[in-house]
Amino acid sequence: MSQQYKPGDKVPKSGIYRVTHDSQHVQEHEVTCVCNETFPPRNGCGRHPRFTSVRQAKHIRNHENFK
Ligand SMILES: [Zn+2]
Repeated sequence: MSQQYKPGDKVPKSGIYRVTHDSQHVQEHEVTCVCNETFPPRNGCGRHPRFTSVRQAKHIRNHENFK
């Protein structure tokens, strides 16, 4: 089981994350998060969303080929 992150946690790696809400809310969906930012809280969600890494992808600004 992959590690879960919650709003306020630091994003460890840039990439695609799956956002899981509580069962009464919306279906899970995917977002792109950028390394060293924090997973944001969302209006209407409180602190329930959980983020799990789906696929890591370096941000283009940090990639050695684009410097
Ligand atoms: Zn929610």
